[in-house]
Amino acid sequence: MQYKRILLKLSGEALMGERQYGIDPKRLAEYATDIKEIADQGVEVAIVIGGGNIFRGVAGASNGMDRVQGDHMGMLATVINGLALQSALENKGIQTRLQSAIKINEVAEPFIRRRAIRHLEKGRVVIFGGGTGNPYFTTDSAAVLRAIEIEADVILKGTRVDGIYTSDPEKDKNATKFDFISFDDVLKKGLKVMDTTAFTLSQENELPIVVFDMNKRGNLYKVVSGENVGTTVNL
Ligand code: UDP
Repeated sequence: MQYKRILLKLSGEALMGERQYGIDPKRLAEYATDIKEIADQGVEVAIVIGGGNIFRGVAGASNGMDRVQGDHMGMLATVINGLALQSALENKGIQTRLQSAIKINEVAEPFIRRRAIRHLEKGRVVIFGGGTGNPYFTTDSAAVLRAIEIEADVILKGTRVDGIYTSDPEKDKNATKFDFISFDDVLKKGLKVMDTTAFTLSQENELPIVVFDMNKRGNLYKVVSGENVGTTVNL
């Protein structure tokens, strides 16, 4: 395996599967199978999950809701997704812990860095819920922050496209995919990998990002074993 400790970022929307809203149990079970494949190889797996399938603070604000209030709802949504993912993983016999950035002790452990690392060392999959615990941030920022804190080798951003393209492949049929690209080139070319806050944090801390299609079964294993799947962003 190319990576020993990874941070997997899953968007909330990915959990919807074919649905318009909420969580698709079939999709969740598929993700759990993919995660088990790498955990069984001894890879230490931490996961940050989004909340966009349930609530987005910006969407609330555009409907007249207070932004901070909406962001709190979004953060709670990530805890809900975290609980769902935890169940799906446990159904496959994987030991897990859910740590939340906002205290919700009856439901999840509080985020404690050393404890998270200890869980990983013991082979438990650690899910980080609650984003960063702060409004005006995204779960991409939370993913990069946690990855740096736990000293992950890489952040794997599982999406529904198979990498970073010269332009939007859903709109431009001449778009070509990068296998590798530097942080600087992503910025120079104005490509979108993560929001700027998350992306800069990753760049400054020299944390590579791999963008890959999480909806193709077996892709996660390929990425972790070093196959050239998706796009790697590095220095
Ligand atoms: N959020 C937040 N602070 C964080 C992470 C998330 O306030 O550190 C809120 C924010 O409202 C965001 C929502 O939670 O819109 C869901 O997260 P995100 O949109 O990043 O989820 P994804 O797009 O990955 O599903």
